[in-house]
Amino acid sequence: MNTLLITNPANGERIAELHADDAASVAAKAARARAAQPAWAARALDERKACIDRFRQFVVRDLESLAATMTRETGKPIRMSRNELNGLLARLDFFVGMVEPVTAVETVYDEGGMLERIEHVPLGVVGNISAWNYPWFVGCNVIVPALLTGNAVLYKPSEFATMTGLEIARLLHEAGVPPEVFVCLVGAGPVGAALLEQKLDGVFFTGSYATGKRIAGAVGSRFLKLQLELGGKDPTYVCDDADPQAAAESLADGAMYNTGQSCCSVERIYVHEKIHDAFVEAFVRTVKAYKAGDPMAEDTYIGAITRGPQLDVLDAQVADAKAKGAKLLCGGHRLPGPGNWYAPTVFSHVDHRMELMREESFGPIIGIQKVGADDEAVTLMNDTRYGLTAGVYTRDGERAQRILARVNAGSLYWNCCDRVSPRLPWSGYGDSGVGLTLSTYGIQAFTRPRAWHLRAP
Ligand code: NAD
Repeated sequence: MNTLLITNPANGERIAELHADDAASVAAKAARARAAQPAWAARALDERKACIDRFRQFVVRDLESLAATMTRETGKPIRMSRNELNGLLARLDFFVGMVEPVTAVETVYDEGGMLERIEHVPLGVVGNISAWNYPWFVGCNVIVPALLTGNAVLYKPSEFATMTGLEIARLLHEAGVPPEVFVCLVGAGPVGAALLEQKLDGVFFTGSYATGKRIAGAVGSRFLKLQLELGGKDPTYVCDDADPQAAAESLADGAMYNTGQSCCSVERIYVHEKIHDAFVEAFVRTVKAYKAGDPMAEDTYIGAITRGPQLDVLDAQVADAKAKGAKLLCGGHRLPGPGNWYAPTVFSHVDHRMELMREESFGPIIGIQKVGADDEAVTLMNDTRYGLTAGVYTRDGERAQRILARVNAGSLYWNCCDRVSPRLPWSGYGDSGVGLTLSTYGIQAFTRPRAWHLRAP
Protein backbone atom coordinates (compact mmCIF):
# COMPACT_ATOMS: atom_id res chain seq x y z
CA MET A 1 0.00 0.00 0.00
CA ASN A 2 1.26 3.48 -0.87
CA THR A 3 1.37 5.83 2.08
CA LEU A 4 2.08 9.50 2.59
CA LEU A 5 3.62 10.47 5.92
CA ILE A 6 2.55 13.84 7.30
CA THR A 7 5.05 15.49 9.64
CA ASN A 8 4.63 18.60 11.74
CA PRO A 9 7.45 20.91 10.55
CA ALA A 10 7.44 22.79 13.86
CA ASN A 11 8.52 19.79 15.95
CA GLY A 12 9.24 16.92 13.58
CA GLU A 13 6.39 14.78 15.00
CA ARG A 14 4.58 12.42 12.71
CA ILE A 15 0.95 13.52 12.53
CA ALA A 16 -0.60 11.05 10.11
CA GLU A 17 0.04 8.26 7.68
CA LEU A 18 -2.38 8.60 4.76
CA HIS A 19 -3.35 6.11 2.13
CA ALA A 20 -1.85 7.53 -1.08
CA ASP A 21 -2.93 7.26 -4.70
CA ASP A 22 -1.03 5.41 -7.38
CA ALA A 23 -1.15 5.48 -11.18
CA ALA A 24 -4.07 3.01 -11.30
CA SER A 25 -6.24 4.83 -8.75
CA VAL A 26 -5.54 8.18 -10.43
CA ALA A 27 -6.65 6.75 -13.78
CA ALA A 28 -9.81 5.26 -12.26
CA LYS A 29 -10.73 8.52 -10.54
CA ALA A 30 -10.08 10.51 -13.70
CA ALA A 31 -12.39 8.19 -15.66
CA ARG A 32 -15.16 8.59 -13.08
CA ALA A 33 -14.75 12.39 -13.14
CA ARG A 34 -14.99 12.36 -16.93
CA ALA A 35 -18.23 10.35 -16.76
CA ALA A 36 -19.76 12.54 -14.03
CA GLN A 37 -18.89 15.99 -15.45
CA PRO A 38 -21.72 16.43 -18.00
CA ALA A 39 -24.44 15.93 -15.37
CA TRP A 40 -22.74 18.45 -13.10
CA ALA A 41 -22.55 20.97 -15.94
CA ALA A 42 -26.20 20.34 -16.77
CA ARG A 43 -27.36 21.31 -13.29
CA ALA A 44 -28.84 24.78 -12.85
CA LEU A 45 -26.19 27.33 -11.96
CA ASP A 46 -28.19 28.15 -8.81
CA GLU A 47 -27.65 24.59 -7.60
CA ARG A 48 -23.90 24.83 -8.05
CA LYS A 49 -23.90 28.24 -6.32
CA ALA A 50 -25.90 26.77 -3.43
CA CYS A 51 -23.20 24.09 -2.99
CA ILE A 52 -20.50 26.75 -2.66
CA ASP A 53 -22.69 28.78 -0.27
CA ARG A 54 -23.04 25.70 1.93
CA PHE A 55 -19.29 25.03 1.64
CA ARG A 56 -18.75 28.58 2.93
CA GLN A 57 -21.05 27.93 5.90
CA PHE A 58 -19.11 24.77 6.75
CA VAL A 59 -15.78 26.64 6.57
CA VAL A 60 -17.20 29.12 9.11
CA ARG A 61 -18.60 26.30 11.26
CA ASP A 62 -15.30 24.35 11.34
CA LEU A 63 -12.94 27.32 11.19
CA GLU A 64 -11.04 26.61 14.42
CA SER A 65 -10.32 22.98 13.63
CA LEU A 66 -9.45 23.75 9.99
CA ALA A 67 -7.00 26.42 11.16
CA ALA A 68 -5.43 23.99 13.63
CA THR A 69 -5.02 21.32 10.94
CA MET A 70 -3.34 23.77 8.58
CA THR A 71 -1.04 25.02 11.35
CA ARG A 72 -0.05 21.50 12.39
CA GLU A 73 0.89 20.36 8.90
CA THR A 74 2.48 23.57 7.57
CA GLY A 75 3.84 25.34 10.68
CA LYS A 76 1.86 28.49 9.80
CA PRO A 77 1.16 30.59 12.93
CA ILE A 78 -2.40 29.94 14.08
CA ARG A 79 -3.50 33.58 13.76
CA MET A 80 -2.40 33.52 10.12
CA SER A 81 -4.25 30.27 9.52
CA ARG A 82 -7.42 31.94 10.83
CA ASN A 83 -6.71 35.00 8.66
CA GLU A 84 -6.46 32.81 5.58
CA LEU A 85 -9.78 31.10 6.29
CA ASN A 86 -11.53 34.38 7.06
CA GLY A 87 -10.02 35.95 3.93
CA LEU A 88 -11.28 33.00 1.90
CA LEU A 89 -14.90 33.91 2.68
CA ALA A 90 -14.70 37.12 0.63
CA ARG A 91 -13.27 35.16 -2.30
CA LEU A 92 -16.10 32.65 -2.15
CA ASP A 93 -18.65 35.48 -2.05
CA PHE A 94 -17.00 37.13 -5.04
CA PHE A 95 -17.06 33.95 -7.14
CA VAL A 96 -20.66 33.12 -6.24
CA GLY A 97 -21.77 36.70 -6.85
CA MET A 98 -19.99 37.12 -10.19
CA VAL A 99 -20.27 33.75 -11.89
CA GLU A 100 -23.67 34.46 -13.37
CA PRO A 101 -22.98 37.88 -14.92
CA VAL A 102 -19.60 36.89 -16.36
CA THR A 103 -20.67 33.57 -17.85
CA ALA A 104 -24.14 34.54 -19.11
CA VAL A 105 -24.74 34.28 -22.86
CA GLU A 106 -23.84 37.60 -24.52
CA THR A 107 -25.54 38.91 -27.61
CA VAL A 108 -22.88 40.98 -29.36
CA TYR A 109 -24.68 41.68 -32.66
CA ASP A 110 -28.32 41.65 -33.73
CA GLU A 111 -29.09 43.19 -37.10
CA GLY A 112 -30.94 42.26 -40.28
CA GLY A 113 -31.85 38.80 -39.06
CA MET A 114 -28.28 37.99 -38.07
CA LEU A 115 -27.59 37.27 -34.43
CA GLU A 116 -24.13 36.77 -32.90
CA ARG A 117 -23.76 35.31 -29.43
CA ILE A 118 -20.93 34.27 -27.10
CA GLU A 119 -21.59 31.29 -24.89
CA HIS A 120 -19.29 30.20 -22.05
CA VAL A 121 -19.15 26.43 -21.69
CA PRO A 122 -17.07 24.55 -19.09
CA LEU A 123 -13.65 23.27 -20.12
CA GLY A 124 -14.61 19.77 -18.93
CA VAL A 125 -12.29 17.93 -16.54
CA VAL A 126 -9.49 20.02 -15.08
CA GLY A 127 -6.44 19.03 -13.06
CA ASN A 128 -5.27 21.29 -10.26
CA ILE A 129 -1.81 20.68 -8.78
CA SER A 130 -1.31 22.97 -5.83
CA ALA A 131 1.15 24.47 -3.34
CA TRP A 132 1.19 24.30 0.46
CA ASN A 133 1.88 27.88 1.51
CA TYR A 134 -1.72 29.17 1.31
CA PRO A 135 -3.55 25.92 0.60
CA TRP A 136 -7.06 27.32 1.07
CA PHE A 137 -6.41 30.41 -1.03
CA VAL A 138 -4.53 28.86 -3.93
CA GLY A 139 -6.70 25.75 -3.91
CA CYS A 140 -10.02 27.58 -3.90
CA ASN A 141 -8.86 30.18 -6.47
CA VAL A 142 -9.03 27.27 -8.92
CA ILE A 143 -11.43 24.76 -7.43
CA VAL A 144 -14.34 27.09 -6.73
CA PRO A 145 -14.68 28.91 -10.07
CA ALA A 146 -13.98 25.63 -11.86
CA LEU A 147 -16.85 23.90 -10.05
CA LEU A 148 -19.19 26.88 -10.36
CA THR A 149 -18.72 26.95 -14.11
CA GLY A 150 -19.53 23.24 -14.44
CA ASN A 151 -16.13 21.54 -14.53
CA ALA A 152 -15.07 18.39 -12.71
CA VAL A 153 -11.86 18.89 -10.72
CA LEU A 154 -9.04 16.46 -9.95
CA TYR A 155 -7.17 18.23 -7.18
CA LYS A 156 -3.69 17.22 -6.10
CA PRO A 157 -2.85 19.25 -3.00
CA SER A 158 0.75 19.60 -1.96
CA GLU A 159 2.14 16.70 0.03
CA PHE A 160 2.81 19.35 2.70
CA ALA A 161 -0.87 20.38 2.92
CA THR A 162 -2.72 17.16 2.18
CA MET A 163 -4.75 17.07 5.38
CA THR A 164 -6.07 20.50 4.41
CA GLY A 165 -6.76 19.24 0.90
CA LEU A 166 -8.78 16.36 2.34
CA GLU A 167 -10.71 18.83 4.52
CA ILE A 168 -11.55 20.89 1.42
CA ALA A 169 -12.87 17.70 -0.20
CA ARG A 170 -14.85 16.69 2.90
CA LEU A 171 -16.62 20.04 3.08
CA LEU A 172 -17.33 20.26 -0.65
CA HIS A 173 -18.84 16.77 -0.59
CA GLU A 174 -20.87 17.59 2.50
CA ALA A 175 -22.05 20.70 0.67
CA GLY A 176 -23.43 18.58 -2.17
CA VAL A 177 -20.64 18.43 -4.78
CA PRO A 178 -20.65 14.80 -5.99
CA PRO A 179 -17.53 12.85 -4.94
CA GLU A 180 -16.74 11.99 -8.58
CA VAL A 181 -16.93 15.69 -9.56
CA PHE A 182 -14.46 16.90 -6.96
CA VAL A 183 -11.66 14.44 -6.28
CA CYS A 184 -8.70 14.93 -3.96
CA LEU A 185 -5.64 12.90 -4.97
CA VAL A 186 -3.16 12.04 -2.22
CA GLY A 187 0.57 11.89 -2.82
CA ALA A 188 3.70 13.77 -3.83
CA GLY A 189 5.18 14.67 -7.24
CA PRO A 190 4.68 11.24 -8.86
CA VAL A 191 0.93 11.42 -8.19
CA GLY A 192 0.89 14.87 -9.81
CA ALA A 193 2.77 13.39 -12.76
CA ALA A 194 0.24 10.53 -12.99
CA LEU A 195 -2.58 13.08 -13.04
CA LEU A 196 -0.98 14.80 -16.04
CA GLU A 197 -1.12 11.53 -17.96
CA GLN A 198 -4.93 11.49 -17.86
CA LYS A 199 -7.21 12.99 -20.48
CA LEU A 200 -7.67 16.51 -19.18
CA ASP A 201 -9.14 19.71 -20.62
CA GLY A 202 -7.15 22.06 -18.43
CA VAL A 203 -4.17 22.01 -16.08
CA PHE A 204 -3.93 24.66 -13.38
CA PHE A 205 -0.73 24.63 -11.39
CA THR A 206 0.51 26.64 -8.43
CA GLY A 207 4.04 26.01 -7.27
CA SER A 208 7.69 26.53 -8.05
CA TYR A 209 9.22 27.59 -11.36
CA ALA A 210 11.14 24.30 -11.59
CA THR A 211 8.00 22.14 -11.30
CA GLY A 212 6.01 24.51 -13.52
CA LYS A 213 8.57 24.07 -16.26
CA ARG A 214 8.37 20.30 -15.90
CA ILE A 215 4.57 20.43 -16.13
CA ALA A 216 4.67 22.66 -19.21
CA GLY A 217 7.05 20.12 -20.76
CA ALA A 218 4.72 17.23 -19.92
CA VAL A 219 1.49 18.71 -21.30
CA GLY A 220 2.58 21.56 -23.59
CA SER A 221 2.11 19.61 -26.81
CA ARG A 222 -1.42 18.52 -25.87
CA PHE A 223 -3.04 21.91 -26.60
CA LEU A 224 -5.03 21.95 -23.39
CA LYS A 225 -5.54 25.03 -21.29
CA LEU A 226 -2.45 25.47 -19.13
CA GLN A 227 -2.03 27.98 -16.32
CA LEU A 228 1.10 28.23 -14.20
CA GLU A 229 1.25 30.41 -11.08
CA LEU A 230 4.87 30.34 -10.05
CA GLY A 231 7.36 32.12 -7.84
CA GLY A 232 8.51 35.69 -7.57
CA LYS A 233 11.34 37.96 -6.42
CA ASP A 234 9.04 40.83 -5.60
CA PRO A 235 10.67 44.27 -5.25
CA THR A 236 9.59 47.41 -3.42
CA TYR A 237 11.09 50.88 -3.72
CA VAL A 238 10.88 53.35 -0.84
CA CYS A 239 11.16 56.92 -2.13
CA ASP A 240 12.89 59.81 -0.36
CA ASP A 241 9.55 61.40 0.66
CA ALA A 242 8.16 58.26 2.37
CA ASP A 243 7.73 58.01 6.13
CA PRO A 244 10.61 55.63 6.97
CA GLN A 245 9.01 54.26 10.12
CA ALA A 246 5.61 53.54 8.56
CA ALA A 247 7.17 52.08 5.41
CA ALA A 248 9.52 49.88 7.46
CA GLU A 249 6.68 48.47 9.58
CA SER A 250 4.56 47.73 6.53
CA LEU A 251 7.41 46.17 4.54
CA ALA A 252 8.77 44.09 7.43
CA ASP A 253 5.31 42.52 7.64
CA GLY A 254 5.27 42.10 3.84
CA ALA A 255 8.62 40.32 3.96
CA MET A 256 8.12 38.16 7.07
CA TYR A 257 4.38 37.35 7.15
CA ASN A 258 3.79 33.60 6.86
CA THR A 259 7.50 33.32 7.70
CA GLY A 260 8.32 34.77 4.29
CA GLN A 261 6.68 31.83 2.53
CA SER A 262 4.30 33.76 0.29
CA CYS A 263 4.52 33.97 -3.48
CA CYS A 264 4.04 37.74 -3.10
CA SER A 265 6.32 38.21 -0.09
CA VAL A 266 8.46 41.30 -0.39
CA GLU A 267 11.79 39.76 -1.44
CA ARG A 268 13.91 42.84 -2.32
CA ILE A 269 13.80 46.38 -0.96
CA TYR A 270 15.38 49.47 -2.54
CA VAL A 271 15.52 52.59 -0.41
CA HIS A 272 16.40 56.12 -1.46
CA GLU A 273 19.70 57.18 0.09
CA LYS A 274 18.10 60.16 1.87
CA ILE A 275 16.06 57.96 4.19
CA HIS A 276 17.99 54.69 3.89
CA ASP A 277 19.55 54.69 7.36
CA ALA A 278 16.35 55.68 9.16
CA PHE A 279 14.40 53.05 7.22
CA VAL A 280 16.91 50.28 7.94
CA GLU A 281 16.99 51.08 11.64
CA ALA A 282 13.18 51.00 11.89
CA PHE A 283 13.01 47.82 9.79
CA VAL A 284 15.47 45.91 11.98
CA ARG A 285 13.73 47.13 15.15
CA THR A 286 10.40 45.87 13.81
CA VAL A 287 11.79 42.49 12.78
CA LYS A 288 13.57 41.96 16.11
CA ALA A 289 10.21 42.35 17.90
CA TYR A 290 8.66 39.44 15.98
CA LYS A 291 8.15 36.42 18.19
CA ALA A 292 9.21 33.04 16.82
CA GLY A 293 7.93 29.87 18.44
CA ASP A 294 5.12 27.37 18.73
CA PRO A 295 2.83 28.05 15.75
CA MET A 296 -0.18 27.15 17.89
CA ALA A 297 0.59 30.01 20.32
CA GLU A 298 -1.54 33.10 19.81
CA ASP A 299 1.38 35.54 19.91
CA THR A 300 3.65 33.70 17.47
CA TYR A 301 4.54 35.66 14.35
CA ILE A 302 7.43 33.62 12.92
CA GLY A 303 6.44 29.99 12.40
CA ALA A 304 8.27 26.98 11.03
CA ILE A 305 9.83 26.56 7.59
CA THR A 306 7.40 24.11 6.03
CA ARG A 307 9.84 22.24 3.78
CA GLY A 308 13.07 21.18 5.48
CA PRO A 309 15.30 21.46 2.38
CA GLN A 310 14.45 25.17 2.13
CA LEU A 311 16.76 25.69 5.13
CA ASP A 312 19.69 24.81 2.86
CA VAL A 313 18.55 27.42 0.31
CA LEU A 314 18.39 30.06 3.05
CA ASP A 315 21.82 29.08 4.43
CA ALA A 316 23.31 29.26 0.93
CA GLN A 317 21.85 32.71 0.24
CA VAL A 318 23.14 33.98 3.58
CA ALA A 319 26.64 32.59 2.99
CA ASP A 320 26.74 33.99 -0.55
CA ALA A 321 25.59 37.45 0.59
CA LYS A 322 28.16 37.53 3.40
CA ALA A 323 30.94 36.38 1.06
CA LYS A 324 30.10 39.17 -1.39
CA GLY A 325 30.18 41.92 1.23
CA ALA A 326 26.60 42.29 2.49
CA LYS A 327 26.14 43.51 6.06
CA LEU A 328 24.17 41.15 8.31
CA LEU A 329 21.92 43.18 10.62
CA CYS A 330 20.04 40.38 12.36
CA GLY A 331 19.48 36.63 12.11
CA GLY A 332 21.45 34.77 9.45
CA HIS A 333 21.18 31.33 11.03
CA ARG A 334 18.86 28.43 11.82
CA LEU A 335 17.03 28.35 15.13
CA PRO A 336 17.34 25.27 17.34
CA GLY A 337 14.91 22.41 16.57
CA PRO A 338 13.27 19.98 16.68
CA GLY A 339 11.56 21.02 13.48
CA ASN A 340 12.61 23.51 10.77
CA TRP A 341 13.35 27.00 12.05
CA TYR A 342 15.14 30.06 10.66
CA ALA A 343 15.81 33.35 12.37
CA PRO A 344 14.35 36.44 10.66
CA THR A 345 17.29 37.79 8.72
CA VAL A 346 18.02 41.28 7.39
CA PHE A 347 20.95 42.36 5.21
CA SER A 348 21.94 45.82 4.02
CA HIS A 349 24.75 46.69 1.56
CA VAL A 350 23.44 44.09 -0.89
CA ASP A 351 23.65 44.15 -4.68
CA HIS A 352 22.55 42.12 -7.66
CA ARG A 353 25.59 39.88 -7.72
CA MET A 354 24.04 38.14 -4.70
CA GLU A 355 21.62 35.21 -4.93
CA LEU A 356 19.60 36.89 -2.17
CA MET A 357 18.65 39.63 -4.65
CA ARG A 358 18.11 37.35 -7.63
CA GLU A 359 16.51 34.03 -6.64
CA GLU A 360 13.35 33.44 -4.64
CA SER A 361 14.24 33.02 -0.95
CA PHE A 362 10.83 31.80 0.25
CA GLY A 363 11.78 32.33 3.87
CA PRO A 364 12.24 35.06 6.46
CA ILE A 365 15.24 36.76 4.86
CA ILE A 366 15.51 40.06 3.03
CA GLY A 367 18.09 42.35 1.43
CA ILE A 368 17.85 46.16 1.52
CA GLN A 369 19.76 48.08 -1.16
CA LYS A 370 20.47 51.82 -1.22
CA VAL A 371 19.59 53.71 -4.43
CA GLY A 372 20.14 57.30 -5.55
CA ALA A 373 17.23 57.97 -7.92
CA ASP A 374 13.90 56.67 -9.24
CA ASP A 375 15.43 55.55 -12.55
CA GLU A 376 18.00 53.43 -10.78
CA ALA A 377 15.24 51.82 -8.70
CA VAL A 378 13.20 51.00 -11.81
CA THR A 379 16.23 49.42 -13.50
CA LEU A 380 16.93 47.27 -10.45
CA MET A 381 13.29 46.28 -9.96
CA ASN A 382 13.20 45.06 -13.57
CA ASP A 383 16.50 43.21 -13.27
CA THR A 384 14.82 39.85 -12.65
CA ARG A 385 13.41 36.91 -14.53
CA TYR A 386 10.27 37.04 -12.40
CA GLY A 387 7.42 39.55 -12.30
CA LEU A 388 4.63 38.80 -9.86
CA THR A 389 4.25 42.00 -7.81
CA ALA A 390 6.10 45.29 -7.26
CA GLY A 391 5.52 48.24 -4.95
CA VAL A 392 6.44 51.86 -4.30
CA TYR A 393 6.17 53.78 -1.03
CA THR A 394 5.85 57.56 -1.44
CA ARG A 395 3.49 60.36 -0.43
CA ASP A 396 3.14 61.26 -4.12
CA GLY A 397 0.57 59.08 -5.91
CA GLU A 398 1.46 60.43 -9.37
CA ARG A 399 5.11 59.60 -8.83
CA ALA A 400 4.23 56.10 -7.64
CA GLN A 401 2.13 55.44 -10.73
CA ARG A 402 4.81 56.86 -13.04
CA ILE A 403 7.37 54.49 -11.55
CA LEU A 404 5.13 51.43 -11.37
CA ALA A 405 3.95 51.84 -14.96
CA ARG A 406 7.54 51.06 -15.99
CA VAL A 407 7.89 47.90 -13.86
CA ASN A 408 7.20 44.48 -15.35
CA ALA A 409 4.89 42.87 -12.80
CA GLY A 410 1.33 41.56 -12.73
CA SER A 411 0.31 43.38 -9.53
CA LEU A 412 1.37 46.92 -8.62
CA TYR A 413 1.17 48.34 -5.10
CA TRP A 414 1.30 51.93 -3.89
CA ASN A 415 1.97 52.18 -0.13
CA CYS A 416 0.97 48.56 0.42
CA CYS A 417 2.38 45.09 -0.30
CA ASP A 418 1.77 41.34 -0.03
CA ARG A 419 -1.89 41.92 -0.87
CA VAL A 420 -4.32 39.92 -3.00
CA SER A 421 -7.87 40.95 -3.90
CA PRO A 422 -10.59 38.67 -5.27
CA ARG A 423 -11.65 41.53 -7.56
CA LEU A 424 -8.25 41.87 -9.26
CA PRO A 425 -6.48 39.43 -11.59
CA TRP A 426 -3.52 37.53 -10.14
CA SER A 427 -0.87 36.91 -12.77
CA GLY A 428 2.83 37.21 -13.41
CA TYR A 429 5.35 38.32 -16.01
CA GLY A 430 8.24 36.14 -17.18
CA ASP A 431 9.09 33.14 -15.04
CA SER A 432 6.30 33.99 -12.59
CA GLY A 433 3.99 32.11 -14.89
CA VAL A 434 1.26 32.23 -17.44
CA GLY A 435 -2.51 32.71 -17.15
CA LEU A 436 -4.34 34.12 -14.15
CA THR A 437 -6.74 33.46 -11.31
CA LEU A 438 -9.18 35.74 -9.46
CA SER A 439 -11.26 38.63 -10.81
CA THR A 440 -13.93 38.08 -13.45
CA TYR A 441 -11.17 36.87 -15.82
CA GLY A 442 -10.33 34.17 -13.27
CA ILE A 443 -13.89 32.84 -13.57
CA GLN A 444 -13.92 32.93 -17.36
CA ALA A 445 -10.58 31.10 -17.32
CA PHE A 446 -12.50 27.89 -16.58
CA THR A 447 -14.76 28.27 -19.59
CA ARG A 448 -14.38 28.04 -23.31
CA PRO A 449 -16.08 30.90 -25.19
CA ARG A 450 -18.10 29.55 -28.10
CA ALA A 451 -19.22 31.69 -31.03
CA TRP A 452 -22.82 31.35 -32.28
CA HIS A 453 -23.71 32.75 -35.74
CA LEU A 454 -27.51 32.60 -36.05
CA ARG A 455 -29.28 33.73 -39.22
CA ALA A 456 -33.05 33.79 -39.14
CA PRO A 457 -34.66 32.04 -42.15
P1 NAD B 1 6.46 22.70 -5.77
O1 NAD B 1 6.71 23.06 -7.17
O2 NAD B 1 7.52 21.99 -5.02
O3 NAD B 1 5.16 21.76 -5.66
C1 NAD B 1 3.91 22.16 -6.16
C2 NAD B 1 3.07 20.95 -6.48
O4 NAD B 1 3.63 20.25 -7.59
C3 NAD B 1 2.97 19.94 -5.36
O5 NAD B 1 1.64 19.51 -5.24
C4 NAD B 1 3.88 18.80 -5.82
O6 NAD B 1 3.53 17.54 -5.31
C5 NAD B 1 3.64 18.85 -7.31
N1 NAD B 1 4.69 18.24 -8.14
C6 NAD B 1 6.01 18.12 -7.89
N2 NAD B 1 6.64 17.51 -8.92
C7 NAD B 1 5.70 17.24 -9.86
C8 NAD B 1 5.73 16.65 -11.15
N3 NAD B 1 6.86 16.20 -11.70
N4 NAD B 1 4.57 16.55 -11.84
C9 NAD B 1 3.42 17.02 -11.32
N5 NAD B 1 3.33 17.59 -10.09
C10 NAD B 1 4.45 17.71 -9.37
O7 NAD B 1 6.05 24.05 -5.03
P2 NAD B 1 5.68 24.28 -3.49
O8 NAD B 1 6.90 24.13 -2.65
O9 NAD B 1 4.48 23.49 -3.12
O10 NAD B 1 5.23 25.81 -3.50
C11 NAD B 1 6.12 26.87 -3.36
C12 NAD B 1 6.24 27.64 -4.65
O11 NAD B 1 4.94 28.00 -5.12
C13 NAD B 1 6.99 28.94 -4.51
O12 NAD B 1 7.86 29.11 -5.61
C14 NAD B 1 5.87 29.99 -4.56
O13 NAD B 1 6.31 31.27 -5.00
C15 NAD B 1 4.91 29.37 -5.49
N6 NAD B 1 3.57 29.91 -5.33
C16 NAD B 1 3.06 30.74 -6.30
C17 NAD B 1 1.81 31.30 -6.16
C18 NAD B 1 1.26 32.23 -7.20
O14 NAD B 1 0.09 32.56 -7.09
N7 NAD B 1 2.00 32.66 -8.19
C19 NAD B 1 1.06 31.01 -5.02
C20 NAD B 1 1.59 30.16 -4.05
C21 NAD B 1 2.85 29.61 -4.21
